[in-house]
Amino acid sequence: MKTAVFSARRYDQSLLVTANQAAGHELRFIQDRLTVDTAPLAAGCPAVCVFVNDNVDAQVLALLAEQGTRLIATRSTGFNHIDAGAAARLGIDVVRVTDYSPYSVAEFAVGLLLAVNRKIARASVRTREGNFELDGLMGFDLHGKTVGVIGTGKIGLIFARIMAGFGCTVVGHDPYPSPEFDAIGGRYLSVEALMAQADVVSLHCPLNDATRYIVNATTLAGLKRGSILVNTSRGGLVDTEAAIQALKTGALGGLALDVYEQEASLFFQDLSSTVITDDVIQRLVSFPNVIVTGHQAFFTVEAIGQIMRTTIESLTAFEHGAPLVNRIPAG
Ligand code: NAD
Repeated sequence: MKTAVFSARRYDQSLLVTANQAAGHELRFIQDRLTVDTAPLAAGCPAVCVFVNDNVDAQVLALLAEQGTRLIATRSTGFNHIDAGAAARLGIDVVRVTDYSPYSVAEFAVGLLLAVNRKIARASVRTREGNFELDGLMGFDLHGKTVGVIGTGKIGLIFARIMAGFGCTVVGHDPYPSPEFDAIGGRYLSVEALMAQADVVSLHCPLNDATRYIVNATTLAGLKRGSILVNTSRGGLVDTEAAIQALKTGALGGLALDVYEQEASLFFQDLSSTVITDDVIQRLVSFPNVIVTGHQAFFTVEAIGQIMRTTIESLTAFEHGAPLVNRIPAG
């Protein structure tokens, strides 16, 4: 089946080609993001394959539908970049990748936490320049601290287990409590109580109308002073301007981000030779107690291999009229 693959980086192309060997779909790789301007590149493709920063809104979907697209396959778990209601109205099915190594993201969240708490990235830059001083590099023991997990689904639960293994007390917030979280000694709290008690808060819930800016000026005002916030879920969960204010006052002691609310125009590209006009990200990276990575938490051999296999399986199922096991709800 002809499939236009947007935001196709080199690794996407080689891994999709490998996953597609038996299925033999006709893959049209497009390096650009899907937007109103690039949608015509998918003309004649019944399937369009996208990633997290592609713009799959109602306008783009209408254009794709006119061109004959009937399936959107996102190479991600989150689907906040897709207007699922508009897709349903246009008769376009949407599939995602629900199951791939949740360890990839949970382990990366732990890595970010350690990096920001123990200033590992700063220390590495210093030693490269021959500076072996320790001033400014002090962190705190995680053992014995309280870690708050917002969203105790697949990734949040693994993160919580790892933190429990570090000797932390884990508390959580989730409208659908998990018995497995209870089993590791986790206690469910309101967001406010969690923010007040936790020394570390890690976000693992999806981005939707209920969770947009779940971390905002009000919730940050109730944060235990000096706590660290980790976000490997979606940028829109955090009001970045409010986080910057909290960093300036010291209310927020550290911030580790793999996702950023305005990441669509920045991430997955080399902008090192251009003038970045986004003052918010520039302010963020100027803090000594902030670490930002470019949406790489999923980027392990295991996770990305599974993402590509599932995507090809969904294309094949759609082509043969078989049930779409990874179809997302119409919204
Ligand atoms: P999941 O569906 O297994 O878990 C999400 C959990 O969030 C569920 O338990 C759900 O009940 C909970 N939730 C829903 N609304 C909530 C709310 N208002 N407050 C608190 N919790 C709420 O999903 P998952 O596989 O664990 O993935 C979690 C998120 O991680 C995804 O939605 C995606 O945004 C993000 N993610 C990021 C990367 C990355 O590379 N950075 C990769 C994969 C996933």
